[in-house]
Amino acid sequence: TEPLYAADRYGYSDLLSGAEQEVLGKLRAVLDSQVAPLLADYWEAGEFPYQIRQPLVDLNLMAPDGVADSQGRTSGLYGGFRNFELARTDASVATFYNAQSGLFRSTVLHGGSAEQAAELDPKIRSFELTGVFALTEPEHGSDIAGGLATSARREGDEWIIDGAKRWIGGAATADVLAVFARDEADGQVKAFLVPREAPGVTLTKILRKTSLRMMQNADIELRSVRVPDSARLANINSFKDVAALMRRLRSDVAWIAAGMQAGAYEAAVRYTLEREQFGRPLASFQLTQQKLATMLANLTASLGMVVRLTQRQEEGIFRDEDSALAKMFTCTSLRETVALAREVVGGNGITLDTGVARFHADAEAVYSYEGTHDINALIVGRSIAGTGAFR
Ligand code: FAD
Repeated sequence: TEPLYAADRYGYSDLLSGAEQEVLGKLRAVLDSQVAPLLADYWEAGEFPYQIRQPLVDLNLMAPDGVADSQGRTSGLYGGFRNFELARTDASVATFYNAQSGLFRSTVLHGGSAEQAAELDPKIRSFELTGVFALTEPEHGSDIAGGLATSARREGDEWIIDGAKRWIGGAATADVLAVFARDEADGQVKAFLVPREAPGVTLTKILRKTSLRMMQNADIELRSVRVPDSARLANINSFKDVAALMRRLRSDVAWIAAGMQAGAYEAAVRYTLEREQFGRPLASFQLTQQKLATMLANLTASLGMVVRLTQRQEEGIFRDEDSALAKMFTCTSLRETVALAREVVGGNGITLDTGVARFHADAEAVYSYEGTHDINALIVGRSIAGTGAFR
């Protein structure tokens, strides 16, 4: 049978059930008809097309009928291919959706108590409650584990939070911010659901980005922000618990990196089959074919890696180094794939009209977020050498 995706040469998507493939087919139809036509203009303007939010919410992608169980759980591969499909259209759209479906949902599901998760997860799945993941700080990115400086002080039944966060994706429109802060009493990192409108919270949009321009990122200032103890996520009691979340989040990004490669590859194939030079389609030249083959190899290897990683996670095998390896490799492949896509399209490859320029520019942010290449390599290195090169 034809694989669901032209770029999926080894038919990894055949591992999905018929119902899962059907939902992703509907997603693709919405992306093609309602999202794709907007991308160039919104990317150039540095704005997010919020009109696409409702059509995506209406698809109920986090817990579709016939795919999710009664608790809203879906297979890992379905969740992975959902990110793949979104990213195949656009990295900002995938990052926007994943801020809710991955970063925020995972934080509440795995960082909250059973009661918090049971109460909030249905609202998160339906977008009735939206949220973001506020970990990175202006002075601490890669060294956030030891460096995290935002503080939380308990006063009776309340916590008072002071500090600053940087780069927080989707914050401008979210209902709550999942803020990670260090408890002044025991020095451990904890997490709090802070209403975006809470007194003392100030958001500033990050301007002049050259990558993921559609995705809206914010600097956040928190000045004596008070939240009740019930807003604390009960199962996050140290940075180890945050690191456990990141194993899942890095896998999600690896799927996004694979999907972006599919989008760039498909756009490059389309263009090089149509455009003629020297009286022949570009795709008929040996050098072009070699580049297209390299792109397909990168993408196929990335997909194989994330599929197997996800299958193992479903079996309960969660290791920092496994998701770090996938994040590191898929993003390195991504950089090469999008650069080749841009190259084979020639001069038109630097305009937003052929589809490859967006992927080319956006790859830089994906390469650096969710742990840079270096940090993920060091996590893998630590598992190889048995000794860490960083603390
Ligand atoms: P730095 O830590 O300053 O690193 C700079 C360079 O130094 C990198 O190349 C790094 O690899 C290298 N480096 C650092 N330490 C070492 C070392 N020990 N050895 C070798 N090299 C080293 N964060 C959130 O919390 N929530 C979000 O929603 C979010 N969204 C983001 C969206 C975008 C578009 C971007 C760009 C970032 C986002 N981030 C978010 C933050 C992201 O996770 C950080 O950018 C990332 O962790 C890197 O931190 P940094 O940018 O401060 O770089």
